[in-house]
Formats: sequence, C-alpha cells, structure tokens
Amino acid sequence: MKAIILGAGISGVALAHFLQKNKKIKEIMLIEKNSEPGGLLRSFTCKDIAYDVGPHIIFSKHKEILKKNIDILKENVKTLKRSNKIIYKNKYIKYPFENELYKLPKQELNYCLNTFLDNPFENFQHSNMIQFFYKIFGEGITRTYLEPYNRKIWKFDPSFMDTQMVERIPKPPKNDIIKSAKGKKSEGYKHQLYFQYPKSKGIQALFDAYYSSLNFKNKTYLNQKIKNIKKINNKFSVITNKNSFKGDFLFSTIPLNEFCNIFKKTPKKILDRSKNLKYNSIIISLINVKGNVGGNNFAFMVPDKNIIFHRLSKLDFLGKNYSKKNTTSFLIEITFRKGDEVSKLSNKQILSKIFEGLKKLNFCSKKEDINFSEIRKFKYAYVIYDLNHRKNVDEILNFYKKKNIVHAGRCGSWEYLNSDQVIYQAEKIIKKFNEKY
Ligand SMILES: Cc1cc2nc3c(=O)[nH]c(=O)nc-3n(C[C@H](O)[C@H](O)[C@H](O)COP(=O)(O)OP(=O)(O)OC[C@H]3O[C@@H](n4cnc5c(N)ncnc54)[C@H](O)[C@@H]3O)c2cc1C
Repeated sequence: MKAIILGAGISGVALAHFLQKNKKIKEIMLIEKNSEPGGLLRSFTCKDIAYDVGPHIIFSKHKEILKKNIDILKENVKTLKRSNKIIYKNKYIKYPFENELYKLPKQELNYCLNTFLDNPFENFQHSNMIQFFYKIFGEGITRTYLEPYNRKIWKFDPSFMDTQMVERIPKPPKNDIIKSAKGKKSEGYKHQLYFQYPKSKGIQALFDAYYSSLNFKNKTYLNQKIKNIKKINNKFSVITNKNSFKGDFLFSTIPLNEFCNIFKKTPKKILDRSKNLKYNSIIISLINVKGNVGGNNFAFMVPDKNIIFHRLSKLDFLGKNYSKKNTTSFLIEITFRKGDEVSKLSNKQILSKIFEGLKKLNFCSKKEDINFSEIRKFKYAYVIYDLNHRKNVDEILNFYKKKNIVHAGRCGSWEYLNSDQVIYQAEKIIKKFNEKY
C-alpha cells in the first residue's frame, strides 16, 4: 500500500519516519511545494552565521521526544541555561517579568505588586486571554507587560483570544512576588529554563537528522504545487503543477485552510469555517552590529508599541559558531497580517524601523554601526486562538476524519505546536494507524 504525505516540513518527515516501519506500507510520497524540504524548521546562512525562522530552541515536556531529538543530533548539540530579558523603559527585567519586579521604576513596581497582592479579579471565572492574565497576575503586571506584549506578537486583541495556550501557566506564589519586589532572586516559571541547541548549522540540523533517517521507501517530490485532491473509490489522487500521485492513505501537513480549498468536495459549510481560521505571518531579520552589546543574554522581549519588533535574540549566546568577533548578531521578529501597516512596508522601510528600534534600545547609535543584514518573510507563522478557534477546527477536522484523511502539524492541524509536539503528534498518529492496518 502507498501513502501520500502533503508537506515536507518536520511534521511530514516525522510521519514518514514512524510510518516507514509499517511492513504493509511499500511506498511513501512526500509532496512539497518548495525547492527544499524543512518548512519552518529551516535555517539560513548569512556571512557564515546560521539563523532560524525566529530562534528555535530544543525543548519538550515529552521526555522521550526530548531524548530522541538530542540523540539524533549525536555530537552536534549543547545545553544552555535560559537568560532572557524583558526590556521595559530601557531596564532589563529578567524573564519571567513577575520575578524581577524590583528592577521596575518605583511607581510601576508598586502598581504591579499591590494589584497582584490585592487582586479583585482573582475569583472570577475567566473566558478569554486578557481575563486570564488579570485573574492570575493582577492589573499591574497585565497592563505593564503582558497585554502590550501579547498585542504586539498576536496583532490580535487578547480579549478575542481564548485561553488554550495560556491555561497551563501557573499562578506565581505570593511569597515569590513579594521577594522579587524586594530584590531577592528566584527563577520563577521553570518551563524551558534549560534547553538544547545544535552546536552548528542552526535548528535545521535537527530537521536534517530526521530527514536523513528516512529509508528507501520514501521519495520527496519538490517544487510540486498541489492543485487538486480527490478521493475516488477509496484511493486518493493528488494533482500538482507537474505530476499526479495515487495512494491508499493521505496525511496532510499543509495549512488546513489551504487544504479545504484544494480538496475538491469540501462543502460550503466547511469552506466557510476554514475562511475564519486566523493566523499571523512573520518577518525575520538577521542584523549584525558593531561591538558586543546586550550582555550574556539570549532573547529580549520588547513590549514598547513604538518599536516595530516584539522580540530580538542575540545569536552569539548560542555559541562560537553563531558569533563574529567584536560584533553582535541579532535575530529580529516582527509579526504582521495581510493588509496591515507592516505588510505594506518595503524591506528598506522595515530595516529603517528596525534601526530606529535598535537605537532606542541602545544597541547601536548610527546607521554605520550595522555591518550587514538580511530580511525574510513567512506567510504562516502563528495559529491564532481566537474565540472560535476550537469550534472551527474541530468541525473541519471531523469532516475530513470521516473521509479517512489525517491532518497533522502546526498549520496542518491548526494548533500552536512546536517541533517537539508535532513529532510527538506524528508518533501518536502512526501508532494508532499501525493498530488499524
Ligand atoms: C517564530 C517561530 C518560533 C518558533 N520557535 C520554536 C522553538 O523554539 N522550538 C520549537 O520546537 N518550535 C518552534 N517553532 C515551531 C516550529 O517551527 C514548528 O512547530 C514546526 O516547524 C512545524 O512543522 P510542520 O511540518 O508542522 O509545518 P511547516 O514547517 O510549516 O511545514 C509544512 C510544509 O508544507 C509545505 N506546503 C504548504 N503548502 C503546500 C502546498 N500547497 N503544497 C505542497 N506543500 C505545501 C510547506 O512548504 C512546508 O514545507 C517556532 C515557529 C515560529 C514561526
């Protein structure tokens, strides 16, 4: 029997990696529109510095997947300890924000502390993201950091977002916050305190390791734009700009909204739901500036709404292969949505706004401080958990499930999944598949 996998990002490749062990499967066809596989788990190189589609770290709450990801990289992996900062009025506040309140100006410190300790929203049942923040962190921390930062990254009003993504965040103990206001050290939220990263070649080293684990059963077809998908007599037919493929099983990791359009017999009701799936696009920029700036830190979160980027990460933190002597390499992230102001800017205008932001943060002072830079744009970066997300996604996926089509991956299943989670998801899907076939 033959299987077709749409998309050759890490999700498609992980599905193939687990599926190839099934003896009944004789052939696996991975169909990819780009000239290279990898999707969001690619890295690019500029003047010998590898950078990802936004800095990717290796981390997982699924211990077996974390071990597998570390093992598959063999010698090419190192462990790092988180050193992230929130930049508020040019002060570096250690992440998570609530654990270094004493660094705030006095007025903000009192506002954050008092509204956390005496929180009138504490006992309300929350029904959206912003209410969750008010309830767990209080008004001060929410208004000073959480709300402006989340507005910047999502480009979506957090009162119209649900809590699927934030619900796991624990309420910080009162004592920790009192201590943090007095200047006593604590780590706070330990999620991703330690993480791994490839010693060289960026996060793509992880993708390449999985990709090279695929055996003779697999064939990747590149530069294939899918035009049409049909199911006829229990067989799937996929037509691209170049070929047509036939298979017994279909797995899709391409964006769910696009799949709905391509699958010929999608009813209007499902198509309408798919049009309501919300997502963000991203601009990433590698900028190398003169001098060693920013200290021994990795990611900087920037809630200031007058600065175009929401996060910048100092790649030098990742090791010598990501660093150039007497300079600093930043990877900058800017989210946008089709039609918004950012989407209309030319690369030159974006660079100029990035420079203004870097200047405001004291990372450089004049244009000549920039040694080199590069800009890339990606259409699908973040799935947005708007208030109708769950209802829309479940209805769409249930429709295709009845047709025996499996949807996986970040935009494939329309969930906020990181690479470890899509690998975990792929393993679970194939386990279930093997029990059936
Ligand atoms: C800014 C940012 C930071 C992130 N940070 C981390 C992190 O720190 N750690 C982590 O683990 N993960 C991180 N992630 C998430 C990680 O990148 C994704 O979970 C993972 O790469 C998703 O893989 P995927 O295969 O599901 O999707 P994709 O990588 O999007 O793969 C889908 C593939 O389908 C192809 N495709 C799409 N449409 C078609 C079509 N019509 N025909 C044929 N092919 C098509 C695409 O070209 C692509 O290759 C981050 C993501 C972003 C955007």
